[in-house]
Amino acid sequence: MSKNILLLPGDGIGPEIVAEARKVLDRANDLYGLALAFDQAAVGGCSIDRCGVPLDDATLAKARAADAILMGAVGGPQWDGLERSLRPEKGLLKLRSELQLFANLRPAILYPQLAEASTLKAEVVAGLDILIVRELTGGIYFGEPRGIRTLESGEREGYNTYRYAEHEIERIGRNAFAMAMQRDRRLCSVDKANVLEATVLWREVMQRLAAEYPAVELSHMYVDNAAMQLVRAPKQFDVIVTGNMFGDILSDAAAMLTGSIGMLPSASLDKDRRGLYEPCHGSAPDIAGKGMANPLATILSAAMMLRYSLDLAPAAQAIEAAVGRVLDQGLRTADIYTAGCRKVSTAEMGDAVLAALE
Ligand code: NAD
Repeated sequence: MSKNILLLPGDGIGPEIVAEARKVLDRANDLYGLALAFDQAAVGGCSIDRCGVPLDDATLAKARAADAILMGAVGGPQWDGLERSLRPEKGLLKLRSELQLFANLRPAILYPQLAEASTLKAEVVAGLDILIVRELTGGIYFGEPRGIRTLESGEREGYNTYRYAEHEIERIGRNAFAMAMQRDRRLCSVDKANVLEATVLWREVMQRLAAEYPAVELSHMYVDNAAMQLVRAPKQFDVIVTGNMFGDILSDAAAMLTGSIGMLPSASLDKDRRGLYEPCHGSAPDIAGKGMANPLATILSAAMMLRYSLDLAPAAQAIEAAVGRVLDQGLRTADIYTAGCRKVSTAEMGDAVLAALE
């Protein structure tokens, strides 16, 4: 049976980098008989230009029907003046909420060949390979009540609600334990259980789940310490699981350990592991159309898609290894270029990964 992939190139560099990922997937399809079938649709600014909204019903229907979605990026200055509900990023947010993509996976991997690109000392980060599992649809970003109100004194007060129901913690927890089972089997749950009751419950649920995954070593860390440990000794972590807000902050910090935003893939999964895969970076309008964008984050997102949504781990591994070989050859797009390497364009980088696959 074929596996249906919906491509959503989006705006800016999106079409350029998704085209390279498509090339790599096509070749992997031929080499390994993966039975991948592709469809394509518009999301973000290009959808606004075409039909007035960032995500139309037809595209949403295609997204629901797909086994997995590979996205480029959305947004750009030409749409910044639009009213908030019509902005390009609303298309992405709607996809995440309509498809109930509650588990956000962000690996922070530093290929040893790129250790010099990090702002941290090479020995601290070389070979870094951590996975942050962030809850994406709950927590303080969505909790009610919320707002800004005027108190009797006349002073204004802003307030938000940090809440997690047990089933929300349980489903992200199971996801994280399952990820840890596929890796080094160490899971660190990050909370603030010394201060926040919502995270006391978070910790309790994680401890309860641990009994179901005896092969996984579960540890707990307060978020302030986790932030410190991430920059002090990041290689101590294998998988980190945390709530929406802490995950938002820690995953950006972890991303910057690698020093190269053009290298970082991500996935957002539903309860059946169907998902949306995209690079962590945005649409980079400053370099769009110049053939300068690094396509590797998108190619690595495609590899994650094969592994997590399509059960094709060997092909995923082959693509990741091909990326490693291309870096060994000294090929670099401008964002990861260092002296002594060979600077290549977006398409040349995609071609090199293709060649390394064979
Ligand atoms: P950005 O990630 O697009 O760019 C930040 C910097 O990194 C730029 O200098 C850019 O040239 C560079 N960069 C990003 N990706 C690169 C790549 N693959 N190769 C080489 N260099 C790369 O962030 P921004 O400039 O803050 O945002 C630009 C637009 O993207 C905005 O409209 C923003 O809303 C949107 N955005 C979209 C997403 C998404 O679609 N998920 C995420 C973030 C930002």
